[in-house]
Order: sequence, then C-alpha cells, then structure tokens
Amino acid sequence: MFDTILIANRGEIACRVIETARAMGVRTVAVYSDADRAARHVALADAAVHIGGAAPADSYLRGDVIIAAARRAGAQAIHPGYGFLSENPEFVEEVEAAGLIFVGPSASAIRAMGLKDAAKALMVEAGVPVVPGYHGKNQDDAFLAERAGEIGYPVLVKAVAGGGGKGMRLVEKAGDFADALESARSEAAKAFGNDAVLVEKYIQHPRHIEVQVFGDGKGAVHLFERDCSLQRRHQKVIEEAPAPGMTKEMRAAMGGAAVRAAEAIGYSGAGTVEFIVDGAGGLRTDGFWFMEMNTRLQVEHPVTEAITGVDLVEWQLRVASGEGLPAVQEDLTITGHAFEARLYAEDVPKGFLPATGRLAHLRFPTGARADTGVRTGDEISPFYDPMIAKLITHGPTRDVALRRLSAALEACEVADTVTNLAFLGALARHDGFARGEVDTGLIGRDLDALVVPPMPAPQDVALAGLAALGLLDGGGCETGFALWAPLERDQMLRRGEEEIALRVRVLSGNACDVVLGEQTVEARRIGGRWQLDGHIAPEVVVTGSLVTVFAQYGLGFDIVDPLDRSSARGGDSALIEAPMPGLVKAVFARAGQVVKAGDRLAVLEAMKMEHALLAARDGVVAEVMVARGAQVVAGAALVRLEEETAEVA
Ligand code: ADP
Ligand code: ADP
Ligand code: MG
Repeated sequence: MFDTILIANRGEIACRVIETARAMGVRTVAVYSDADRAARHVALADAAVHIGGAAPADSYLRGDVIIAAARRAGAQAIHPGYGFLSENPEFVEEVEAAGLIFVGPSASAIRAMGLKDAAKALMVEAGVPVVPGYHGKNQDDAFLAERAGEIGYPVLVKAVAGGGGKGMRLVEKAGDFADALESARSEAAKAFGNDAVLVEKYIQHPRHIEVQVFGDGKGAVHLFERDCSLQRRHQKVIEEAPAPGMTKEMRAAMGGAAVRAAEAIGYSGAGTVEFIVDGAGGLRTDGFWFMEMNTRLQVEHPVTEAITGVDLVEWQLRVASGEGLPAVQEDLTITGHAFEARLYAEDVPKGFLPATGRLAHLRFPTGARADTGVRTGDEISPFYDPMIAKLITHGPTRDVALRRLSAALEACEVADTVTNLAFLGALARHDGFARGEVDTGLIGRDLDALVVPPMPAPQDVALAGLAALGLLDGGGCETGFALWAPLERDQMLRRGEEEIALRVRVLSGNACDVVLGEQTVEARRIGGRWQLDGHIAPEVVVTGSLVTVFAQYGLGFDIVDPLDRSSARGGDSALIEAPMPGLVKAVFARAGQVVKAGDRLAVLEAMKMEHALLAARDGVVAEVMVARGAQVVAGAALVRLEEETAEVA
C-alpha cells in the first residue's frame, strides 16, 4: 500500500477520498486554488499544496503543477476524484511518466471510452447491446438526416464528446432535424471543442440504469446496478440501488454486459457502464442498451457502497497499489436498499439556476450519510459545481430507505442559501416515485407539483418573531424587560414581498402570546423546549438579519429594522445586473440599440451553465458596462437602458 497519495480534486470527493485513505493509514496531500485556501478538504488532509488561481484552468486542471506537487510531497500516487482530470488520458500518461501511479484505469482504457461513437463501436464488437443508431464518421447534414429517418423518430442527436447532458437534442420529427443538429453541434463545439455527433433512437419511457464495475486490468466484477432515472436536464438528482423492479435475469444480463465492456478494454479500478432501459411494461433482458462508460468513480457511488458494504475508494487504492480484485463475483451480495439525494445551491423555481453565497448555517441530520466538502461559514463559489452535499440513506427495504431519505431531508438545516432541499423533499414524497415508477421524464412532467412554494404557518411566523427579538434563549420571555406588566414588544418581519407585523405579549419567563393580526399564537416553554399552540417548535437560527425556521425545509424571514424602512428595494427595470458571479460569455447589446422586453442582451456563464440576460422592458440601450470575457461579481451592472420618458399628455 502507498504511504502517501495526492488528491487532485476538491470538495466532497476530495474529502471522501481523504477519509478512506486515513482509515487505511495512508497519508494524504490536498491541492487547493485561491478560492479554496480554507476549504474543508484542505483542513482534513495531512498536507496541502497551493496550485493556483480560482478558475479550474488555473489550478485543478493544471496537470503539470499537480504532478510536481505530488513529487515534492513524496506521494506515490494521484487520486483524481471525478470531473477535472479524472478522464483525461494525457494526464494519466504524464502521471506515469513522472513515475507516479494514477488511481484509475489506463490511458488507453479511458481513450477507448472517451468518445461515445468509438465506445459504441467497441461495444458492438464485445457483444454488448448498444442503442440503435448511426455512430459513424460521416457528418454530412443530409446523410445524418437520412439516417435519422431510417432509425425512426423520435431520435437523439448527441455530441460524441458529450458529458453532463451537454450537446444533446431530442428531435421529434423530420422537420426539426436540421435545427436540432445545428444547435447540438454548436453547443458541442463550445463545450468540448469537438462538434461531431451521433444519432440514436430515443428510447420511450427511458430509465437510466447503470452498473458499477471494478477491474484489476485482468478481470472484472460488477457491484450491481443503480437507477438514476430521476433527472432534470439529463442531470441526476436522486439515485438509488438496486433498481426498482429489477429481476434476477435482467441483473445477470446487465451485469454480464457491463463486465464484458470492462474486460474488453482491460479495465482497472472503479468504472460505471451506463445503460438506457426501456421501462414500458417492466424490465426485459432485450430492452437495455449501452450509452456510455464513465471511467472513474461516480458521484453516486455511495448507494452501491451502502448495499454491498464495499468501500469503493479502499478498493481503488488496493488495486492501484498492485493487489488483485478484492472479491470475486460470488462474494458480492445486496443488502437492503439505498438512496442518494444531491443537495445543490440552486434556485429550482428559476429553472435550477445555480446560486452562490455563504452557508451561514449548515447542519446535516443524524441517520444519513452526508458526503460534503463544506461547513458552516463556507462559501459556495461561482467557480465550481454548486453541490453542497450528498445525503445517503439505507434501509432493509426500499420503502424504509425512502422514508429515511425523506426524514433526513426534512431534518437538514441550511440557512441563508438558496437550495433545492424543498424540491428534493417533494421528490422523496412523490407517490409515483414511492411506487418505484421511475423514468427520466418524471421530474419534467410533475415539475409544477414539485416546486410548490412553502406557506409558513402562523406558528412558524410567531417563532421567527420570538427569535428575532432574542426571546428564545436563556432567560426566556423576560429577557431585556423591566419587570412590570404587561410587557409588549413589536417586531416587523419580511418574507419575499410581504411585510409581517407581530406583537409579543410576555406572560412569564416561559410563556408569551404572539399576536399576528387577528390570530394569537401561544408560545410556552415546557421542560426547556418551546411549544407553539401545543406543538414542539422546530429548530430556528438567526444569521445576521435573517431568521430561518426549519419547517418545510427552511423558511427564511428578514428582520426589518424599523429605523431602516428605506431598505425595501425598488426594482430598477433600467439596469440589467449579473444575477450571480460569473464570466461574461457574450454581449449583444450596443449603446443606442432599440430593444424589446425579453431580448437577449448578454450571456453569463456561471457554474457550468449559461444564463441569458434579458431586457426587462422595451427601451433603448443607454450604456453597456461590460465586455465579453469579463469576470463579474453578483449584482454587477452590465447594461443600462435609457430612462423611460414620461408620457406627455
Ligand atoms: P455524473 O453522471 O456522475 O453526474 P458528470 O459527467 O455529469 O457525471 O459529472 C460528474 C461530476 O463531475 C459532476 O457532478 C461535477 O461535480 C464534476 N464535474 C464535471 N465536469 C466538471 C468540470 N468541468 N469542472 C468541475 N467539475 C466537474
Ligand atoms: P452524458 O455524457 O451527457 O451523461 P448520456 O449519453 O450518458 O450523456 O445521456 C445522459 C442522459 O440522457 C441519460 O441518462 C438519459 O436520461 C438520456 N438519454 C441518453 N440517451 C438516450 C436515449 N437513446 N433515449 C432516451 N434517453 C436517453
Ligand atoms: Mg452519462
């Protein structure tokens, strides 16, 4: 076994690898960018090396700097995590040329699976079923349109270099093919520097089922399947293992195909073979097709660990250090069921818009595994993926594991940061999902029902008021009061656009009445715990001028300072500001230009996504304050429209 490894990654996966390495007695070296000086992975590691600027291209993607750091720190191996350099064959070659070991497959195995077209061709040879379609070299428009017609609509146009759901277009009918081809190509060229595409049959009632494989370069085993059908924009949201409705025959067929795929390329280490499955009318052994292989540890690997009891990072380190496969197929069994939910800083009602900001308060529930790279006080920066944590639950049955997930999500506390927590909670309580009726369209179909805005109950508002007044801790309701009755204090709160006035009447040290308009909520402290109208109060925290009541996945209330009523912001429709920090990818507006409400004025790239910035109203561009390529902070003014001239009667 190695005595020192370097982890060429950040965030939760760097922390995850460090934890197993430590348990195995292996020293760890972290690397960090300017933005990550105080990050959790740096604090956890035995040593840490600064490798450059905040942008990935200046740090986590700099193979040469990382390899030099590994050598200087005396590491024998580099673990790449996922993302960044994990699937970069040139990096693997450079690591090996430097006399170090890459914890993962060979450069040639990564290359074989790197492009979807070549991978599909290879899989056909290995006898693995692939999605029917055209994955050849001819990229002529008319030729591809003809192939699409033969395959039969609907079809998918996919970037051969694709990943993360980019460069993919669903085409319903022949008339839409040319446009879809064009837009898939341009997205692919931008994202991957390669505009080649393949065309394949769009599988109806699609389910995404993938198989975890593990090889030692000679042979491979599989650690069963994961169902990742709950997706939005082709990105996974909740994953589970095993797959609902999986049969013995289907598992043997899929597992066998995945092992053949891995063995065909002499695979070493952890990998995932992704299949698209026709979910209409139950799983059938002739109804699954290879999509791609991810030649690395996958984000959702913990659900496999939960049902098999295998620590996949331990296996990675053992195999990379020269051991053979730690188990044979017959040793591997499934115990119970597991779920993983990806907690992101993102605004779901605004189309899953990534968010940034400081995690003023963060607490994970007991009863779930929480894999995270952040702590209370940390920033979600615009430079990286906005994932906050993965919550993983396990249970003897799917039903129990799902209830545990639901409970864990309810008990998760994140204050002062926009998250997808309520959305995940709604998914965990979705009836169809509970019945195991999953397919990749579920989220899209039921989106409206899954993003119902929370409605605070009067008890929640009362609790927020008591917290705002500092009356919940210590001496109780008499804090700060002279001892004459009646003691009354007024408090103003704001939630969104709504201002809420409340009056607290102190009855004793452990009793207050909170008056909200017509309604009165009774707050009583019994046995040291506050109860509101007889129900035990949820947790509540005050961070700066924000109170968060942890009911309904977190209800935020701003404390309104009566002396500062002017702080209520009036929307200025003349100014177009950056909704989050990011890189200005394009500017379309020119001074003097006449624009209509909804016109695209600029494009901002933040956290792997592009956001179009639109004119809020009709008008004339007065000033363009940024240029393409600029890095801007949240709230930065980008474009100003001329003041609206008052109508002259
Ligand atoms: P998965 O199917 O496991 O979600 P993806 O290929 O979409 O796989 O990406 C895996 C993870 O790798 C993402 O969740 C993200 O955290 C990370 N990742 C992918 N691309 C990048 C990138 N360009 N920069 C940083 N992290 C990335
Ligand atoms: P990426 O490299 O971006 O992860 P994939 O090829 O793995 O791309 O596909 C991502 C997702 O797109 C799948 O999980 C699935 O939801 C959907 N998808 C891909 N291929 C098909 C198909 N042929 N039919 C239906 N859905 C598909
Ligand atoms: Mg994929």
